[in-house]
Amino acid sequence: MSSVLLEVVTPERLVVSEQVNFITVLTGGGELGILPHHAPLAATVKPCIVKVRTDAGEDYINVNGGFLEIQPDKVTILADAAELASMIDVARAQAAKERAERRLAQREGVDVLRAELALQRALRRLEVVELSGKAGNVLGSGNQK
Ligand code: ATP
Repeated sequence: MSSVLLEVVTPERLVVSEQVNFITVLTGGGELGILPHHAPLAATVKPCIVKVRTDAGEDYINVNGGFLEIQPDKVTILADAAELASMIDVARAQAAKERAERRLAQREGVDVLRAELALQRALRRLEVVELSGKAGNVLGSGNQK
């Protein structure tokens, strides 16, 4: 099957650099499915779980939001923060989830939006670990064909 190079980059590291067959990402304009040889495009990326299909199966990446650049042979996501399941500290995400839930349960002196966003980041990380584990942790594990 034809493929395109996916690179997910944060200010700290190169999270993913692999040939993939299909990518689904939430952009400012809505959900976008990207096949190899897609027309050039630039877009903002909303906080989301990026879904990737490779010859070896599916995998999932947590992306906190950023920018997307599509070229026919390369898709680059520049993210504030991004992780594969193998990079996610589950205990930390669980603690962040519980902290945000405690804050949201308080009635006064809480920045509700900030707590909501923190809760969503934690829930996305936990979901990536679960989805990726079920799918076999394809990316970054040498599972690629
Ligand atoms: P926390 O409250 O645990 O710091 P956060 O959602 O506020 O979580 P972010 O601002 O999204 O954290 O990310 C800051 C940095 O920490 C990024 O490099 C991100 O990849 C990393 N990070 C955050 N949570 C985790 C986690 N559970 N496991 C691994 N890395 C994480």
